This record gives sequence, structure tokens and C-alpha cells, in this order.
Amino acid sequence: MAVPLLDLVAQYREIREEVRAAIDGVLDSQVCIGGPKVAECEKAVAAYCDCKFGIGASSGTDAILNALMSLGIGAGDEVITTTFTFFATAGCISRTGARPVFVDIDPRTYNINPALIEKAVTKKTKAVMPVHLFGQMADMDPLMQLARSHKLAVVEDAAQAIGATYKGRKAGSIGTCGCFSFFPSKNLGGVGDGGMIVTNEASLADMCNIMRNHGSKPKYYHKLIGGNFRLDPIQAVVVLVKLKYLEEWHKARQANAAWYDKRFAGCDKIVTPYVEPHNRMIYNQYVLRIRADKGASRDQVETHLNHKKIGNAIYYPVPLHLQQCFADLRYKEGDLPHAELAAKEVLAIPVYPELTQAQKDEVVAAVLEAAGA
Ligand SMILES: *Cc1c(COP(=O)(O)O)cnc(C)c1O
Repeated sequence: MAVPLLDLVAQYREIREEVRAAIDGVLDSQVCIGGPKVAECEKAVAAYCDCKFGIGASSGTDAILNALMSLGIGAGDEVITTTFTFFATAGCISRTGARPVFVDIDPRTYNINPALIEKAVTKKTKAVMPVHLFGQMADMDPLMQLARSHKLAVVEDAAQAIGATYKGRKAGSIGTCGCFSFFPSKNLGGVGDGGMIVTNEASLADMCNIMRNHGSKPKYYHKLIGGNFRLDPIQAVVVLVKLKYLEEWHKARQANAAWYDKRFAGCDKIVTPYVEPHNRMIYNQYVLRIRADKGASRDQVETHLNHKKIGNAIYYPVPLHLQQCFADLRYKEGDLPHAELAAKEVLAIPVYPELTQAQKDEVVAAVLEAAGA
């Protein structure tokens, strides 16, 4: 039996009529840019994240880019972030003209290790961008304390973590702002690209609003050079429909994760996701570590799962400090060893809410077989 990494068709089956009616509403209105549905979506997502303001974005990437530009980050500045993340995190820093400064991870959570940030701070540092990887928030208390003492902005890359919490506080609500993605594979996805910035700071929200319309206010008068970073109403209404089901979907992912945790518990070649007791993890991905030091091979497990048509993915095979496009930053292999080892050992397996028991059994059997357990 083939098991996909994610089954959006199964999800769509449950909400098809609602989504189609909502999209029809947009089409009938012919309000195709901005309008009341985008505003409603911004309000709903901000409320869900315990934030005052939501500013829609054309993608998670553009949410990050807009946030950095609106904070005034640019040439000559440095932004500290994790090396173990999706490319957009650091790509956006570079696109503002600033320099990404990479820090290693906590090997248990795969998130930025806050104890390593202080050493990376220079006179040029303007912001820290923690990433809440796989659906678990980074260790925000020490990070915020350090940011406050150095007067740094904190941009949470919460693209994978909508609804996750840290000591009861929602992803996106702790830093200066938080950035979400509605890429279809995120826990809350649209039917195309989309994203959102959330913040409690009115002045930043204003700036993000101006920046996403080419920096113009009033229209055709440009104080700043911004971009077209707008969320469109089709994505907004789909997100509004799906938001009603989000908690239910989170819980189904958590139940699948708990079941996997139990089934893999006896195997010393496999490390299951570690969740800090003060965190609520929403499992955008369920990522195993296949331990090379115990004689298991991640690549062998990957090959075996592919052969059995079981969806899997490596997030991420190359830490950002070793990416070709950042060669001019002069990092080398060995600089950030925890991330480098994780890149060789991690493997994501299906955890989506609609997984059946038979599918989960199949996944576990294939992983255990391939790991030589
Ligand atoms: C998905 C993702 C993004 C970018 O989101 P897009 O909507 O694909 O542009 C940024 N950061 C992280 C960590 C992501 O997972």
C-alpha cells in the first residue's frame, strides 16, 4: 500500500463544498485584490495567534521579506538565524542587503541554540530570526532576554508552527512579529501561495501595510521602496474555512505522533522527535533521526521507503551555511556540527491528520525493517 507524505486530496474531500462556496463568493464579488475577505482573514489569524494585527502576504517568504524591510533592515546590517531551516529564512535576509549570521542548533529540537547567539552578536546585528522548526517553538525566553539586552528585533519564522505554543504563548506572539506561510503543505494552507505577518506593534503593522503596496501611502506617493507582497482573497477565504478545522487537525497529527513515538520507542537506532515539556508541538513534520553511530543508515531507510512507495523527505539535506549561494560568507564544513550531523540523519515520515491505522502500521514496519531493528 502506497502512503503519501501528505494527502491533501483526503483533506479536501471533507471540506470540498465549503471551500468551493467560499471561492465562488470571491468570484461572484470580483473583488480580486484586498477587500473584506482579506481583512477578515487577517483578523481571524491574528486572533488565533493572540496578536492584535495581521498583515496578509503573498507567501511565507514575502511575509518574512516584508517584515525585515519594514523593520528597516538592509545593507550593512546583520541578522542572526539558524542554519538548519528552509532556505527562505536566510534568503530574505540576504535580499534586504543584510548579512545572515548562522548559529548552530540544539540537536534534540533542531531549533536554534540560544546559548550560541550572544557570541554571534556584533555592532551590526539588528535582529534575530528564530525558526520554529517542524512545528515546535524555539527556546524563546533566553532568546528574548538577549534580544532585549542588545536592543534587537526578533522576527519569528513561524511558517511551520501556526498554533504551536511556548509556555502557553502562541507562535508569532512573543517576538517583535511572527511570519506564517499558507503553502499547502503547512498545517494551515491555501490553494496556492500565501502568508501572514502577525504583531502587537501598531507602528510595525502600519509599515508592513505600506510596504506590501510598493511602499505607497497615499496611493502613487512612495515614501519607501516596497513590493507587491499582498495576500489574495481566494487564499484568504480558503484559509478562513480551514482555520475552523485547524485545532482538530493539530490533534490528529499529535495522536499520530504519539502512536509513532510508542512504536519506535524500543529501537535505539531511531530517535523520535523530542518535545520540550513546556512546548505544544503541532507536528508540521514528524522527523526521525536515524543514528549513524548505532550502525543505521538514513539513506538506506530513505531508499527502502521510496521502494515501498512510502512518502518521506529530508528536511534539510544541506544546512544553509554550506549552501553554494552563501559561499562568500566563508563558512566551512565543521563550523556548525550539530546541524551538519542532523542533515545526514533526519528523515520525515507521513504524519498528516487523515492517515489510517493501516497506513501507520505500514510506515512503522518499513522504517523498522530498513533501520535493521
Ligand atoms: C514554508 C517556509 C517558509 C516560506 O514559506 P512560503 O510560503 O513557501 O514562501 C519560510 N520558512 C520556513 C521555515 C518554511 O517552512
